[in-house]
Amino acid sequence: MANIGIDLGTTNSLVAAVLSGKARVLLDEHERSILPSAVVLQDDGTAVALGEDALQRRLESNEQLFTSTKRFIGQAPQQVADEAQRLGYSLADDDGVVRFQLSPDKRITPVEIAALLLKQLNTTAEECLFGSPTGAVITVPAYFDDAQRQATKDAAKIAGLEVLRLINEPTAAALAYGLQTGATGRKVVVYDLGGGTFDVSILELDDGVFQVKSTAGDTQLGGDDFDHALSRILLQQFGLTTVDSQIYRQVLNAAKSAKHQLTDNESADISLNIQGQEVDINIDRATAHAIWSPILQRTQAACEQALKDAGMTHSDIDDVVLVGGSTRMPLVRDFAKTFFQKEPHVDLNPDEVVAIGAAIQADVLTGNSELAEDILLLDVLPLSLGIEIMGGIVERIIPRCTPIPASASQRFTTHVDAQQSMKLHVLQGERELVNDNRSLAQFSLDGLPNLPAGVPRINVVFTVDANGLLQVEATEEFTGTQAAITVTPAHGLDEDEIEEMLEAAIDNAESDVEKRLLIEAATEAEQVLYALQGALAADAALIQSDEERQSIDQVSSDLRNAILNSDRQRIAQLTRRLDEVSAPFAQRRIERDLAIALEGRTTDDVAVHLGVSPD
Ligand code: ADP
Ligand code: MG
Repeated sequence: MANIGIDLGTTNSLVAAVLSGKARVLLDEHERSILPSAVVLQDDGTAVALGEDALQRRLESNEQLFTSTKRFIGQAPQQVADEAQRLGYSLADDDGVVRFQLSPDKRITPVEIAALLLKQLNTTAEECLFGSPTGAVITVPAYFDDAQRQATKDAAKIAGLEVLRLINEPTAAALAYGLQTGATGRKVVVYDLGGGTFDVSILELDDGVFQVKSTAGDTQLGGDDFDHALSRILLQQFGLTTVDSQIYRQVLNAAKSAKHQLTDNESADISLNIQGQEVDINIDRATAHAIWSPILQRTQAACEQALKDAGMTHSDIDDVVLVGGSTRMPLVRDFAKTFFQKEPHVDLNPDEVVAIGAAIQADVLTGNSELAEDILLLDVLPLSLGIEIMGGIVERIIPRCTPIPASASQRFTTHVDAQQSMKLHVLQGERELVNDNRSLAQFSLDGLPNLPAGVPRINVVFTVDANGLLQVEATEEFTGTQAAITVTPAHGLDEDEIEEMLEAAIDNAESDVEKRLLIEAATEAEQVLYALQGALAADAALIQSDEERQSIDQVSSDLRNAILNSDRQRIAQLTRRLDEVSAPFAQRRIERDLAIALEGRTTDDVAVHLGVSPD
């Protein structure tokens, strides 16, 4: 069975696979490739709608819509408190893990929400591939830190997916770009501005080798920020300073739709009904661009950083590839063109290119790819990894932009005589002080030998795998013994909790299947009832006896009750029974129609009469 590639986006998610030697996005039953990353949850945690259905759903009082939850994944609650408030999500913070409070006794983590979306994408893949995919390559923003990557992997585990590799979104895009255009011997910038994250990567493409030279970005910057910025201005214009989250959502949607209008038009009309008051505003491009410029300035800083880290200037760059829905905005295109002094490539579909690249990598990992045998992806670590030393300072162990996989070690010693244990604090980021960096894990090295201060030699080894995930090991070298380490992720879920979620997901999966079978059975039954009702109304004369009519009516009414009672077994049984008792009547209708045909009518007339269209 094929492997799949998944673009698990903040706003939109897609699944793709290589089929018959071509990478393509997979379509769901309604022929849609894009699954909006949106979920409607009931206050007991049941997911009642996903994707487009979630966005379109009229919410009941016990339901809540969750979007952009990727902005919360692997984060510490205090980092995302403002974002949660803006979106009207209440956070339960009791153990350093982000959890959305659905009701007094039900919470859900962004990891579980990601798992729901991944499961849906997997279902689409199963339907397209006629079976379960073997494994998945999942993309993450290049600038995701270790905790965010780990959380994504946890989500895949809960969704029951075998993760072959996590790859960076811009790297995936470059892979798709390189293969589709045949570009080689070129230095390429991928500028990826989606809904919630911004990444810029510089790669060198050479004979199937895709080497990332540098990467920079911001995991809290994207199209959502244009929407928020415009919303704030709109609220000011309406003279509203504080609004509840429901009204804010309404304004936010209006802002988003105005933003989309402004991509193709010089001005946009916004009409809103706030607290019973109609407001109409027209906004032109220049005004909107003035509001949005500061956001683009933030992408500029990252672009400069990426060039500097790659040891390049604008003139070294051969190609600029734009990825992500927000790069459709004229303002963003102009910015990329001006900054890199090149006309950017816009012929790749910015929505699909990441998923396509993931599918290509997934195919390469099967080991027998016909598409691209000699592809090699060489990525880099986005943010430095280090350890806390005396005085709240960070000692860097693996610097940013080191090619991965990578390994590095550092020696430490004790500060007091006969010290039994040592606390180590793992951090990620570029700042000097511990508090300004991302805390990844704390671990304690126990069972140190009884030695004077400064004598033990503790070797700490950091290993980053091809997924960009970190593992830490520590050994006391003087005695040659490896001491036990317990790593507790600072803001992640622990192993037990993931197991529990996995079990819950499997239980739910069973009831999900049951629900679907019920809906299918009821729909079929309703169609049978409807058709029969029509036939009886048209051809009552063909009923031969009162008993015949009574038994048809009786079974029909029993079937309607079974539908009302959601009794799937009984619905199926009565649908078959209704077919049986109405079969003679149906037979007579067919015979009558054939008789009409034999009376010298054309076959076309008969076809029309039988309800089949003549061709
Ligand atoms: P993600 O990778 O975060 O899931 P996407 O690449 O799908 O995001 O991009 C989604 C973002 O692109 C949203 O903020 C959306 O408003 C924006 N977007 C999509 N189409 C347009 C458009 N025509 N004009 C402006 N913005 C757009
Ligand atoms: Mg994306």
